[in-house]
Amino acid sequence: MIRIQQLKLHTGHSEAQLEEKIRKTLRIREGENFSYRIVRRSLDARKKPELFYVYTVDVSTKGEKALLRKNRNKHVQESREVRYSFPEPGSEKMHCRPVVAGFGPAGLFAAYMLALHGYRPVVVERGMDALQRKKDVETFWETGVLDVRSNVQFGEGGAGTFSDGKLNTLVKDKYGRNRKVLEILCDHGAPEEIAYDAKPHIGTDLLIQVVTRMREEIIRMGGQVCFHTQLVSAEPAAPLGRDAEEGSLSLVLEDTLTGKRREETTQALILAIGHSARDTFAMLRDRGVPMEAKSFAVGVRAEHPQSMIDADQYGTKEGADRPDGLPAAAYKLTCQLPEGRGVYTFCMCPGGYVVNASSEEGRVAVNGMSYHDRAGRNANSAVIVTVTPEDFGGEDPLAGVEFQRKLEERACQAGQGKVPVQLFGDFCRGKISERIGEVKPQIKGGFSFGDVRGIFPEEIGDAIERGIREFGRKLPGYDREDAVLSGVESRTSSPVRILRDEGLESSLRGLYPCGEGAGYAGGIMSAAMDGMKVAEAVARKYRPFDKDA
Ligand code: FAD
Repeated sequence: MIRIQQLKLHTGHSEAQLEEKIRKTLRIREGENFSYRIVRRSLDARKKPELFYVYTVDVSTKGEKALLRKNRNKHVQESREVRYSFPEPGSEKMHCRPVVAGFGPAGLFAAYMLALHGYRPVVVERGMDALQRKKDVETFWETGVLDVRSNVQFGEGGAGTFSDGKLNTLVKDKYGRNRKVLEILCDHGAPEEIAYDAKPHIGTDLLIQVVTRMREEIIRMGGQVCFHTQLVSAEPAAPLGRDAEEGSLSLVLEDTLTGKRREETTQALILAIGHSARDTFAMLRDRGVPMEAKSFAVGVRAEHPQSMIDADQYGTKEGADRPDGLPAAAYKLTCQLPEGRGVYTFCMCPGGYVVNASSEEGRVAVNGMSYHDRAGRNANSAVIVTVTPEDFGGEDPLAGVEFQRKLEERACQAGQGKVPVQLFGDFCRGKISERIGEVKPQIKGGFSFGDVRGIFPEEIGDAIERGIREFGRKLPGYDREDAVLSGVESRTSSPVRILRDEGLESSLRGLYPCGEGAGYAGGIMSAAMDGMKVAEAVARKYRPFDKDA
């Protein structure tokens, strides 16, 4: 295969024009056949309003070696893509099925890979299946009555299900896991362009279908998936069999609907519980599982008209149609304040909604989501400031959780139980807003005017104000008076890291901390890739589970 990079075409180009460009670049004669696969497509808006797509493609044609020998174009090279491969199984006997706790992207991909390779995992997920969960979440947004068992954080697909479904990651991927995750998602109904778009995105509506299909496939391959089943205890158990070198774990699982408990034994517990499983973190800390507090970020969600963002990013007039069927535009902004705090936008949702993403009574947390068409009238993004263990106070590894809880309690008070909202102008003046301006909030769940700034320690409130003012210099209008801010954005990543060794195991043998909650991922893709990595670690140690054992 030959790889061509930097193939540049106007955004409105046709497939034939792309083929023609490939033919010309490789000097393939008219009538001679070739096939190609798009590896990557990114948007080049440096000469806006003239907009281009820049492609990387892999081409298969006759006489590739000769073509490469004659080639003088530095953007044309032999394709050396690393294809993902799952490791050969280890030699230890698996006496009972591996257990995956948590069915977010990390648990989903860990379970999928294990099931695919004959390990027949048992998945336990405290929340409900995606369809029931969708009903529960919509009821919460309509009535304000939270189900602590089934919500935006807990249930099939994890925190990623009610999300924008952005699928980009900064994780370097020399083993091909990134591509494999995207391929698996496509095999289960995700649109094919996610495999090559520089900013791939699925959206809540499609994600629900994709995770449901992956679960069906896991079951078809011999896995078992138990919803409303929470891991409530994990303790060392006696070694199983003569050739089991290390101890196994005794687990207690609770049906969250009936309260009934049962026990399960396993040699491999993949702990993929996400960043909001505060009770499970506490249980593990109390059992002496090594963990430490880690930095994360807190702030607000900011809403602006999507047409304002499109105009800035695409160079069009505000209110005009987007050119060439381009999607709602995204942005990313950062600034470093002189005192050392960094402020940045995070998890930006073009054409999206702010959502009440709470999972505990008396506490309010927000986040952002979108549907596949990203057709909402507003763009929203978190505007956040990094907080470190020094901000939390105390030595407890879960001090960051308590810090989050305090902010979420203040947000709940500020919004009288609903999402508190304040316009940016009023945020700066320290005044509770009385009316909405031109930016109409697009919020899933009730909201009310409140003191959003008052949620934060003074220094963080100041940093948010100064950050937004600075962003206004980079993206005109970002600091408009009527930009809508809501709070609190507190679940940006895990406040804790559960330590693991080179074999990805905790010193509580048999426990494999995994994904975002354990501190090894931040986002859907990196969590899914960590799930694969941990499944590989289990497979490297054990032979596939033998059902007749
Ligand atoms: P999670 O997805 O949090 O999954 C953990 C699962 O474990 C949950 O389903 C939970 O119910 C279950 N669980 C917890 N404790 C237990 C227990 N004791 N027993 C059994 N089960 C348990 N990231 C992106 O990359 N792009 C986005 O566009 C994006 N948008 C987001 C929008 C929203 C509203 C939210 C909330 C998050 C968003 N994220 C996004 C972040 C992304 O969802 C997370 O990074 C990702 O889901 C982390 O994956 P995970 O599998 O590690 O954990």
